[in-house]
Amino acid sequence: MARALITGITGQDGLYLAELLLGKGYEVFGLIRGQNNPKLDLVRRTVPDVTLLTGDLTDLSSLLRAMEVAKPDEVYNLGAISFVAYSWENAMLTSDVTGKGVLNMLEAVRLYAGDDLSKVRFYQASSSEMFGKVQEVPQRESTLLWPRSPYGVAKVFGHYMTINYRESYGLHASSGILFNHESPRRGPEFVTRKVSQAVARIKLGLQDELVMGNLDAKRDWGFAGDYVDAMWRMLQQPEGDDYVVATGETHSIGELLDVAFSAVGIEDWSGIVKQDPRFMRPAEVDLLIGDPAKAREVLGWTPQVGFRELVTMMVENDLVEQRALAGK
Ligand code: GDP
Repeated sequence: MARALITGITGQDGLYLAELLLGKGYEVFGLIRGQNNPKLDLVRRTVPDVTLLTGDLTDLSSLLRAMEVAKPDEVYNLGAISFVAYSWENAMLTSDVTGKGVLNMLEAVRLYAGDDLSKVRFYQASSSEMFGKVQEVPQRESTLLWPRSPYGVAKVFGHYMTINYRESYGLHASSGILFNHESPRRGPEFVTRKVSQAVARIKLGLQDELVMGNLDAKRDWGFAGDYVDAMWRMLQQPEGDDYVVATGETHSIGELLDVAFSAVGIEDWSGIVKQDPRFMRPAEVDLLIGDPAKAREVLGWTPQVGFRELVTMMVENDLVEQRALAGK
C-alpha cells in the first residue's frame, strides 16, 4: 500500500487530495499544527481514515518526526499562509511559513531518505501569484516570475528551492503552478467564497449588501477537486518537473458577481454591491490566465468543471448551509 504525507490537511486542497488518495488505496497521513486546532473536527469528520500527526512547517524536527512515523512514498506540501491580502500585514510570518517552510520540508525529506533519495517523491504547491505583474499572456512554466505580494515572493522562494533540490540532489520533486482553484470548501476570506456566501445570505434575506474591493481584476478560476488530481499525476511521472495547472480561461470579479447573483435570479446587482478601499491591496495582480498545455500533454490532465458550473455549485452549497445556520 502506497503511503502519503500531506501538509496543509486542514485546507480545501488537503481534504480533496486526502479523499483522492484514500480512494486509490493509499495510507494517508496529515500534518496538523498547533494546540486545539479549530479545524481538527472538520478533518476528522471529512476524512476519518487519515492519520493525523502534529507538526509545524517552521519546526524542522517536528517534520522529521512526522516523516519517520509516516514513512511516505509521496509528500505533498500544501501547508502555507495562503491569503494574499493578509501577507502584507504579516510579511515575516508568511516568509517563514510559506517560503522557509518549503525548505524545512525538503530538508526533512532529504534527512529522512538518507542515501536513498529515490524512495520519496515531493510535490510543492506553487502558485500563479508568482506571476504577479504578468510578463507574458497566457502564463506558462517558462514565464518570468514577478511576484506582487509577500505571499507571492515567499512562493517564488519555495518554487526555486524545489527545483534546486531536484537539480542538486536528484530528488523527484515537482512544482505545481496552480492557478486559483475554488470549491464549497474554500475559506470565506477568498473572493469566490465571500461572494457565494453573501449571495446566498442576500437571497435568504439575511444580509442586504456586499462590500467588495477591486472588481476589475481577472483570474483563471478552476475547481479544486480537479486540481488535486493534477498534483497526484505529477508524482506518477518518471521524473519530477514543473507544471502550470489552469483552465486557460479568465474572468473578472465583475463577471463572478454576474454569475453568482444570476444563480439566485438577481440580474442587476448594482444597488447591492458597494466598494470599499479596505478591500483594495497595496499592489494588485491584474490579470491571470494560464496555459495548461504541458499538463494536458504530459499528465493527460484536463479540468472537468467550468467557471459557471463552479460558481453555481458554490452558491447552491451556501444556500443550503446558510439556510441551516439560520434555522430556516
Ligand atoms: P488571490 O488571487 O489569491 O489573491 O485570491 P482572492 O480570492 O483573495 O482574490 C482574487 C481577486 O479578487 C484579487 O484581485 C482581489 O483584489 C479581488 N477582490 C476584490 N474584492 C475582494 C474582496 O472583497 N475580497 C477578496 N479576497 N478579494 C477581492
